[in-house]
Amino acid sequence: MNKDRKLIIAGNWKMNKTVAEALDLVAGLKRELAAIKEVDLVVAPPFTALSEVSKVILDSNIRLGAQNVSEQNVGAYTGEIAAAMLKEFSVRYVILGHSERRQYQQESNELVARKAIAVHAVALKPIICVGEVLAERESGRTEKVLETQVRGSVAGLTADQMEETVIAYEPVWAIGTGKTATTEQAQAAHAFIRRTLASLYDETVAKRVRIQYGGSVKPGNARELMSQPDVDGALVGGAALEVRSFSDIVKNSI
Ligand code: PEP
Repeated sequence: MNKDRKLIIAGNWKMNKTVAEALDLVAGLKRELAAIKEVDLVVAPPFTALSEVSKVILDSNIRLGAQNVSEQNVGAYTGEIAAAMLKEFSVRYVILGHSERRQYQQESNELVARKAIAVHAVALKPIICVGEVLAERESGRTEKVLETQVRGSVAGLTADQMEETVIAYEPVWAIGTGKTATTEQAQAAHAFIRRTLASLYDETVAKRVRIQYGGSVKPGNARELMSQPDVDGALVGGAALEVRSFSDIVKNSI
Protein backbone atom coordinates (compact mmCIF):
# COMPACT_ATOMS: atom_id res chain seq x y z
CA MET A 1 0.00 0.00 0.00
CA ASN A 2 1.35 3.37 -0.93
CA LYS A 3 0.60 5.94 1.75
CA ASP A 4 2.80 8.72 3.05
CA ARG A 5 1.80 7.82 6.58
CA LYS A 6 3.17 4.61 8.05
CA LEU A 7 0.44 2.27 9.23
CA ILE A 8 0.16 1.80 12.98
CA ILE A 9 -1.63 -1.24 14.35
CA ALA A 10 -2.12 -1.45 18.10
CA GLY A 11 -3.58 -4.17 20.29
CA ASN A 12 -5.60 -2.97 23.24
CA TRP A 13 -5.61 -5.91 25.63
CA LYS A 14 -7.96 -4.14 28.05
CA MET A 15 -8.36 -5.93 31.41
CA ASN A 16 -7.17 -9.27 30.05
CA LYS A 17 -4.05 -11.40 30.56
CA THR A 18 -2.11 -12.25 33.68
CA VAL A 19 1.61 -11.56 33.46
CA ALA A 20 2.26 -15.17 32.41
CA GLU A 21 -0.42 -15.00 29.72
CA ALA A 22 0.85 -11.64 28.53
CA LEU A 23 4.38 -13.02 28.18
CA ASP A 24 3.05 -15.96 26.20
CA LEU A 25 1.12 -13.71 23.84
CA VAL A 26 3.93 -11.28 23.27
CA ALA A 27 6.47 -14.06 22.69
CA GLY A 28 4.19 -15.41 19.96
CA LEU A 29 3.72 -11.99 18.39
CA LYS A 30 7.44 -11.37 18.43
CA ARG A 31 8.01 -14.63 16.57
CA GLU A 32 5.20 -14.15 14.04
CA LEU A 33 5.83 -10.49 13.31
CA ALA A 34 9.62 -10.33 13.40
CA ALA A 35 9.87 -9.54 9.70
CA ILE A 36 7.33 -6.70 9.69
CA LYS A 37 8.88 -3.34 8.89
CA GLU A 38 6.04 -1.66 7.03
CA VAL A 39 3.82 -1.19 10.08
CA ASP A 40 4.39 0.34 13.52
CA LEU A 41 3.31 -2.41 15.93
CA VAL A 42 2.05 -1.62 19.42
CA VAL A 43 0.73 -3.78 22.24
CA ALA A 44 -1.06 -2.26 25.22
CA PRO A 45 -1.20 -4.79 28.07
CA PRO A 46 -2.68 -4.00 31.48
CA PHE A 47 -0.41 -1.95 33.78
CA THR A 48 0.51 -5.04 35.78
CA ALA A 49 2.19 -6.66 32.77
CA LEU A 50 4.03 -3.61 31.40
CA SER A 51 7.27 -4.27 33.19
CA GLU A 52 7.67 -7.89 32.13
CA VAL A 53 6.41 -7.34 28.59
CA SER A 54 8.77 -4.40 28.15
CA LYS A 55 11.77 -6.67 28.80
CA VAL A 56 10.66 -9.21 26.20
CA ILE A 57 10.08 -6.71 23.40
CA LEU A 58 13.19 -4.64 24.02
CA ASP A 59 15.02 -6.10 21.03
CA SER A 60 11.98 -6.34 18.75
CA ASN A 61 9.87 -4.27 16.35
CA ILE A 62 7.00 -4.20 18.86
CA ARG A 63 6.43 -1.04 20.88
CA LEU A 64 4.72 -0.78 24.22
CA GLY A 65 1.51 1.07 24.91
CA ALA A 66 -0.45 1.79 28.08
CA GLN A 67 -4.22 1.98 28.32
CA ASN A 68 -4.54 5.08 30.47
CA VAL A 69 -2.55 7.64 32.47
CA SER A 70 -3.13 10.34 35.06
CA GLU A 71 -3.27 13.95 33.96
CA GLN A 72 -1.17 14.75 37.05
CA ASN A 73 2.61 14.46 37.20
CA VAL A 74 3.16 13.41 40.80
CA GLY A 75 1.56 13.55 44.23
CA ALA A 76 -1.36 12.42 46.33
CA TYR A 77 -3.54 10.78 43.68
CA THR A 78 -4.25 7.33 45.04
CA GLY A 79 -4.49 4.66 42.40
CA GLU A 80 -3.18 6.85 39.60
CA ILE A 81 -0.11 6.38 37.42
CA ALA A 82 1.89 9.26 35.95
CA ALA A 83 3.22 9.43 32.41
CA ALA A 84 6.83 9.55 33.66
CA MET A 85 6.24 6.27 35.48
CA LEU A 86 5.09 4.65 32.25
CA LYS A 87 8.20 5.92 30.55
CA GLU A 88 10.29 3.94 33.03
CA PHE A 89 8.94 0.79 31.38
CA SER A 90 9.76 2.02 27.89
CA VAL A 91 6.13 2.76 27.12
CA ARG A 92 5.86 4.78 23.89
CA TYR A 93 2.12 5.18 23.36
CA VAL A 94 -0.79 5.83 25.71
CA ILE A 95 -4.39 5.12 24.73
CA LEU A 96 -6.62 7.97 25.92
CA GLY A 97 -10.35 8.52 25.99
CA HIS A 98 -11.31 4.99 25.00
CA SER A 99 -15.10 4.77 24.83
CA GLU A 100 -15.10 2.37 27.78
CA ARG A 101 -13.35 4.98 29.90
CA ARG A 102 -15.62 7.73 28.58
CA GLN A 103 -18.61 5.55 29.52
CA TYR A 104 -17.57 3.88 32.80
CA GLN A 105 -15.23 6.52 34.22
CA GLN A 106 -17.05 9.51 32.74
CA GLU A 107 -13.90 10.79 31.04
CA SER A 108 -14.58 14.07 29.29
CA ASN A 109 -12.89 15.60 26.28
CA GLU A 110 -11.31 18.17 28.62
CA LEU A 111 -9.78 15.45 30.78
CA VAL A 112 -8.52 13.60 27.71
CA ALA A 113 -6.88 16.83 26.51
CA ARG A 114 -5.14 17.31 29.88
CA LYS A 115 -3.91 13.72 29.77
CA ALA A 116 -2.65 14.20 26.20
CA ILE A 117 -0.63 17.20 27.37
CA ALA A 118 0.81 15.15 30.26
CA VAL A 119 1.74 12.37 27.83
CA HIS A 120 3.50 14.75 25.44
CA ALA A 121 5.28 16.42 28.33
CA VAL A 122 7.38 13.27 28.74
CA ALA A 123 7.68 12.69 24.98
CA LEU A 124 5.26 9.79 24.75
CA LYS A 125 2.57 9.63 22.07
CA PRO A 126 -1.14 9.62 22.84
CA ILE A 127 -3.61 7.52 20.89
CA ILE A 128 -6.80 9.54 21.34
CA CYS A 129 -10.04 7.62 20.78
CA VAL A 130 -13.17 9.25 19.41
CA GLY A 131 -16.38 7.78 18.05
CA GLU A 132 -20.12 8.08 18.00
CA VAL A 133 -22.70 5.81 19.62
CA LEU A 134 -25.39 4.17 17.51
CA ALA A 135 -28.13 6.67 18.37
CA GLU A 136 -25.87 9.52 17.29
CA ARG A 137 -25.14 7.85 13.95
CA GLU A 138 -28.75 7.01 13.36
CA SER A 139 -29.86 10.56 14.05
CA GLY A 140 -27.27 11.99 11.63
CA ARG A 141 -25.09 13.52 14.33
CA THR A 142 -21.87 11.57 13.68
CA GLU A 143 -19.89 14.51 12.30
CA LYS A 144 -21.02 16.90 15.02
CA VAL A 145 -20.02 14.37 17.70
CA LEU A 146 -16.65 13.69 16.09
CA GLU A 147 -15.92 17.38 15.69
CA THR A 148 -16.70 18.09 19.35
CA GLN A 149 -14.64 15.13 20.54
CA VAL A 150 -11.64 15.91 18.33
CA ARG A 151 -11.63 19.64 19.11
CA GLY A 152 -12.05 19.04 22.83
CA SER A 153 -9.59 16.18 23.13
CA VAL A 154 -6.67 17.86 21.34
CA ALA A 155 -7.25 21.30 22.88
CA GLY A 156 -3.93 22.82 23.93
CA LEU A 157 -1.70 20.60 21.80
CA THR A 158 0.85 22.43 19.67
CA ALA A 159 1.14 21.60 15.97
CA ASP A 160 4.28 19.55 16.65
CA GLN A 161 2.50 17.61 19.39
CA MET A 162 -0.51 17.06 17.15
CA GLU A 163 1.68 15.50 14.47
CA GLU A 164 2.96 13.04 17.08
CA THR A 165 -0.57 12.20 18.21
CA VAL A 166 -2.55 9.28 16.82
CA ILE A 167 -6.33 9.51 16.56
CA ALA A 168 -8.37 6.30 16.74
CA TYR A 169 -11.80 6.50 15.16
CA GLU A 170 -13.84 3.90 16.99
CA PRO A 171 -17.57 3.91 16.33
CA VAL A 172 -18.84 2.75 19.71
CA TRP A 173 -21.50 0.55 18.11
CA ALA A 174 -18.73 -1.45 16.41
CA ILE A 175 -16.60 -2.12 19.49
CA GLY A 176 -16.72 -5.73 20.62
CA THR A 177 -20.00 -6.25 18.78
CA GLY A 178 -18.80 -8.00 15.65
CA LYS A 179 -20.29 -5.11 13.64
CA THR A 180 -17.74 -3.24 11.59
CA ALA A 181 -18.20 0.11 9.95
CA THR A 182 -18.35 -0.28 6.19
CA THR A 183 -15.23 0.86 4.41
CA GLU A 184 -17.25 3.85 3.14
CA GLN A 185 -18.38 4.79 6.66
CA ALA A 186 -14.84 4.45 7.98
CA GLN A 187 -13.27 6.45 5.16
CA ALA A 188 -15.89 9.19 5.46
CA ALA A 189 -15.35 9.53 9.21
CA HIS A 190 -11.56 9.51 8.85
CA ALA A 191 -11.65 12.14 6.10
CA PHE A 192 -13.93 14.26 8.27
CA ILE A 193 -11.56 13.97 11.25
CA ARG A 194 -8.67 14.99 9.01
CA ARG A 195 -10.61 18.01 7.75
CA THR A 196 -11.34 18.95 11.35
CA LEU A 197 -7.61 18.77 12.14
CA ALA A 198 -6.85 20.90 9.08
CA SER A 199 -9.23 23.57 10.33
CA LEU A 200 -7.73 23.42 13.83
CA TYR A 201 -4.10 23.38 12.62
CA ASP A 202 -3.36 23.32 8.89
CA GLU A 203 -3.28 20.93 5.94
CA THR A 204 0.32 19.90 6.54
CA VAL A 205 -0.35 18.88 10.13
CA ALA A 206 -3.59 17.14 9.19
CA LYS A 207 -1.83 15.14 6.48
CA ARG A 208 0.77 13.90 8.96
CA VAL A 209 -1.59 12.68 11.68
CA ARG A 210 -2.25 8.96 11.63
CA ILE A 211 -5.88 7.98 12.10
CA GLN A 212 -6.56 4.39 13.13
CA TYR A 213 -9.85 2.59 12.72
CA GLY A 214 -11.14 0.50 15.62
CA GLY A 215 -14.22 -1.63 16.00
CA SER A 216 -14.30 -5.37 15.38
CA VAL A 217 -11.23 -5.37 13.15
CA LYS A 218 -10.49 -8.95 12.11
CA PRO A 219 -8.10 -10.67 9.70
CA GLY A 220 -10.93 -10.83 7.17
CA ASN A 221 -11.74 -7.10 7.06
CA ALA A 222 -8.32 -5.57 7.77
CA ARG A 223 -7.12 -5.32 4.18
CA GLU A 224 -10.20 -3.52 2.89
CA LEU A 225 -10.28 -1.08 5.81
CA MET A 226 -6.58 -0.37 5.59
CA SER A 227 -6.78 0.27 1.86
CA GLN A 228 -8.92 3.39 2.43
CA PRO A 229 -6.94 6.57 1.77
CA ASP A 230 -7.45 8.07 5.23
CA VAL A 231 -7.25 4.87 7.29
CA ASP A 232 -3.73 4.60 8.67
CA GLY A 233 -3.94 1.56 10.89
CA ALA A 234 -6.10 -0.15 13.45
CA LEU A 235 -6.79 -0.22 17.14
CA VAL A 236 -7.72 -3.82 17.85
CA GLY A 237 -9.50 -5.17 20.92
CA GLY A 238 -10.76 -8.75 20.92
CA ALA A 239 -8.67 -9.95 18.00
CA ALA A 240 -5.50 -8.65 19.69
CA LEU A 241 -5.75 -11.29 22.40
CA GLU A 242 -4.58 -14.15 20.18
CA VAL A 243 -1.29 -14.46 18.32
CA ARG A 244 -2.90 -15.78 15.15
CA SER A 245 -5.63 -13.18 14.74
CA PHE A 246 -3.46 -10.16 15.57
CA SER A 247 -0.61 -11.37 13.35
CA ASP A 248 -3.00 -12.03 10.47
CA ILE A 249 -4.53 -8.57 10.82
CA VAL A 250 -1.03 -7.08 10.53
CA LYS A 251 0.00 -9.28 7.60
CA ASN A 252 -3.27 -8.73 5.74
CA SER A 253 -2.90 -4.97 6.14
CA ILE A 254 0.32 -4.70 4.20
C1 PEP B 1 -11.47 -1.44 21.16
O1 PEP B 1 -11.97 -1.64 22.24
O2 PEP B 1 -10.66 -0.52 21.01
C2 PEP B 1 -11.87 -2.29 20.06
C3 PEP B 1 -11.72 -1.83 18.85
O3 PEP B 1 -12.40 -3.51 20.38
P1 PEP B 1 -12.83 -4.66 19.34
O4 PEP B 1 -11.72 -4.82 18.34
O5 PEP B 1 -12.99 -5.89 20.19
O6 PEP B 1 -14.10 -4.22 18.71
